[in-house]
Amino acid sequence: MIKEHYNADSSVTLEYCCDFCDYSTMDNKESSGMKPLMECHACGRHICSGHRKFYGETWLTSHRGMYCLGCWAIGKRYRDQMISVQHEAWEKENDLRLAWHRGGREEKRRQLAKLRKPKLGQILISEGYIKEEELEAALSEQMITIGQVLIQAGRITVIELQEALDYQQKVSKQLGAILKELGHSTPEDIDWALNRMARKLGEILMEQEILSDDELRHAAVLQRGESSE
Ligand SMILES: [Zn+2]
Ligand SMILES: [Zn+2]
Repeated sequence: MIKEHYNADSSVTLEYCCDFCDYSTMDNKESSGMKPLMECHACGRHICSGHRKFYGETWLTSHRGMYCLGCWAIGKRYRDQMISVQHEAWEKENDLRLAWHRGGREEKRRQLAKLRKPKLGQILISEGYIKEEELEAALSEQMITIGQVLIQAGRITVIELQEALDYQQKVSKQLGAILKELGHSTPEDIDWALNRMARKLGEILMEQEILSDDELRHAAVLQRGESSE
């Protein structure tokens, strides 16, 4: 509160007092009684340093100000909500930032794909030599594991493969080596399987009689970007 003091020379001295205690700026010699006390940001009450709180020390807010203890207590639930919306906004911002970065990585992939030479499979499809499903089947054929190759060819049984896989958990060796060690496969079986796994896309499609030798040669020329004539 402000108290007005009328002096003998008819001038007025203002005395600022804390609305919560007896503190008066009159008592403070340095301020010579004239220095106004801070006002509460919400209610405007005068507040001494012992009866005020500062809001806005965290990075979460850009709204800063001094509050009297009364308003500070009332503000508790609002401040909690303010912090929670700030957190939500921060999380939302983070999601958007991650989406942005994902977009950037996709952009990079697209740009690199343009620089890279066209994939053989795509050329074979666009030339009408093979269908999309045939390409997918051939590509998955390339992803096949040595165990699957040997089982499909009837060179080992599922039980033998399982035994080898269980054994592989204990020793860190390649499956082919383990199958030989367990006596389920001959060295020739393993070499044969490794060769099958290394087959190129064109070989697989030709083996399946989907693609002819001439078609593959023509597609390879297109892929290199040379004239097909
Ligand atoms: Zn006070
Ligand atoms: Zn207040």
